[in-house]
Order: sequence, then C-alpha cells, then structure tokens
Amino acid sequence: MEFRSLSPALHRASTIVYPDVKSFMARHEAFYDGYSYALYGHPASRELEARIAELEGGARAVAVPSGLAAIALVQLTFLRPGDQVLLPDTIYGPARQMSRQLLAGLDVETGFYDPVDPESVRRVASPSLRLIWAESPGSFTMEVQDIPRIVAIARDIGALVAVDNTWASPLHHKPLSMGADISVQAISKHVAGHGDLILGAAVARAESEFRMLKDRARNLGYGVSPDDCWLALRGLETLEIRLDRQLRSAMRIAEALSRHPAVEEVLFPPLPGDRFHDLWRRDFTGGAGVFSVVLAPAARPCMASAVERLKLFAIGASWGGTRSLVAPADPTNLRDVNPWRRGVVLRFSIGLEDPEALLRDIEQAFEALPGSQSRNHEAQDPEETASSSVDFQERNHKR
Ligand SMILES: *Cc1c(COP(=O)(O)O)cnc(C)c1O
Repeated sequence: MEFRSLSPALHRASTIVYPDVKSFMARHEAFYDGYSYALYGHPASRELEARIAELEGGARAVAVPSGLAAIALVQLTFLRPGDQVLLPDTIYGPARQMSRQLLAGLDVETGFYDPVDPESVRRVASPSLRLIWAESPGSFTMEVQDIPRIVAIARDIGALVAVDNTWASPLHHKPLSMGADISVQAISKHVAGHGDLILGAAVARAESEFRMLKDRARNLGYGVSPDDCWLALRGLETLEIRLDRQLRSAMRIAEALSRHPAVEEVLFPPLPGDRFHDLWRRDFTGGAGVFSVVLAPAARPCMASAVERLKLFAIGASWGGTRSLVAPADPTNLRDVNPWRRGVVLRFSIGLEDPEALLRDIEQAFEALPGSQSRNHEAQDPEETASSSVDFQERNHKR
C-alpha cells in the first residue's frame, strides 16, 4: 500500500533529478508549471501558490521570500525607466522607502495620492503612469480604499492596479474580482498565522501577468523554503477560524476602548461608527484582529509607560499571529499628502487569548494615562457585541 497522509508532502531539495537525457534537456519547459530546479518550484510551493491563487480568485500566484519581496517583485516586473507609479499615502512603510531608494535609482517616478479620495489619482497622474498601488486598509491608520473606483480610473488612464491585501487575507477581500490586476499577500501575517515565518505571494488575475512575475522572480533569484511553505499550508487550514475569533475578540476590545476616556479614536473599519465602516461592509466579507488606537492628547506623553504595563501583549512589529501584540508607531513622517497630527498610534494585533483578559490588561495599563481616571463610560453589555457579530456572520453566509 502506498503511503498516504492528510498533510501535504514535504520535499527538501535543490536538485531535481530526471530519468533520462531527453527529459533533463527539456526541463525548462516545466518552469511555469512543473519542476525544473527547486529554486523555481517544489511540491510545497506549487501547492501553496495554487491555494492562494484560488482563494484570491486569480489565475496564478508566485510565492516569494517575504511580503516586501512580493511588493518589489510587482514593481520590478511592471515598471520601466521613465514610468510613473502612484502609491497611497498610507502604504506600508518599507514599501514607501523602497520607492524612494530602489525605484528612484531606476528612474521610475513615484507619486503619492490620497487613499480616501480616488479622484486624487487623476490629479497626480502623469502621462507615463503605469501602476497604481493600493493597500486596504492602510498601514497603521486603517483607511479602507474604494478599489472598484480606483480600478475604473486606472482603466480610463490605461494603468495597472496592484493591491496589498494582507490585512483581510485572501479570504475576506477579493481585489482581483473587483478588477485589480495583482493582489499581494504578506503570508507572514494571517496565512502563516503563528508569527514564526516570513513569506509572501503575488497573485495575478491573468496568466500573462503571472508569467511576467515568474520570469522576474527568476531574474531576481527568488526562491522559497519548502518548510516555510509547508507551515503556511498548515496555517491555511485554520485561517478562517483564527480570523473569525480574532475579529470577534477585536470587536469586543475595540468597542470598549472607543469609550475609554484616554482614547481619542479607535481606527477599526469593522467597528460600527468607524469612518470606513460602510465601505468595509460593502467590499469585505470579514475582518481581522488588527486595529489602531489614537490616544487623547493629554494621554499621548505617557504612551510608553502605559504600553510597558501591558502583561499579555508583547511589544513587536508584525501581526496576525496567535499571540497578541502591540506596536506603537508615529505616522507623522510617513505622510506626503494628508498630514498626520495626532501623534503616536498604538496598533494592536489581537491573538487567540481570552478577549476579556486582554481587555482587562489594556484597561489596567491605560490607568497610567492622564484622563483615564475620569471613568464616565458604561461597562459594555457583552450580549450586544455578541449579537452584532452574529448578525455580521449571518449576512456573510447569505452571500
Ligand atoms: C508586513 C507587511 C508587509 C511585508 O511583509 P513581510 O513578509 O514582513 O516582508 C507588506 N504589507 C503589509 C500590509 C504588511 O503588513
């Protein structure tokens, strides 16, 4: 009897071997689809690519060493000297840096547009515009972008659209079905889901764009580890239940924090009342446990002491894992179009711990903040949050 198990095969390899000279000499034909050299694909990477592409609703995916590598791959595939690329003002910080350092040196012009005003694309577009980037919601400040409108403008101008779809994961937001050409994932975040690997993917809506991406990945020597792909495949098995639990917990915590006297605003599109809630409901089928908190002005100088009082949240970048994290960040120097004047934001990534314990932890930590003593807010009724999140799920099951 052949060996069978429920988990995918894991083959570590550099060399792939052939039964005869003819098949060895023809190995390059397997570059896009099969196995020619482990740098270009092995069973775990092909399986991961197939599943991510299917979830995103794209033709094909290319797995690459990181989310940032996926961003670089898309830009280096589609941009030529003299082209213009437009980035949302809220783009992931290292990608903003990439445009200034890498693309500027290649004579690609970068422009920034207002992520919440798609028409601003037309104002900054030059005749050489080639690629419009989007990231929704935006890093740290959580602005949801109107992807269908951006796609319509791009079609008008004749530009490609690429979307960083990391926050919602390939499960809960489908930019390719809204007409975007490329969707990018930092698999390191929700898909991997355990804070223990770095991997990315670029998914193309059409086979032709996939082939361009795959060719460029070869030029760059991008390969991915079978072990990391295998772990990401395992992550996919629990993606939906993790995201669901993290969203429910984050709703409970964000709702309570939005009424905390030391908090000016919670930035979290799934929260009713958030500036981007309606757009999020229209275009997303679910969420994640990642949100940001803007502290009240009086509380801002004491941010560090409050964060350091947290016991259940580790201080760290990244998000989407099983353990809760907090990352303070100051967007002030990361904005070209819309100045940010509200100081440091605290980005929380809610893990799989007990949400009531997490909320109590934040509340005890925020007691260090001036203003938190004026506790005039009512305790949240847990029934209310539970039922609104159930409504949300019922709505999505009907879709
Ligand atoms: C983390 C992140 C990336 C980069 O992913 P890495 O795998 O860490 O390189 C890209 N985009 C967004 C929105 C991210 O949060």
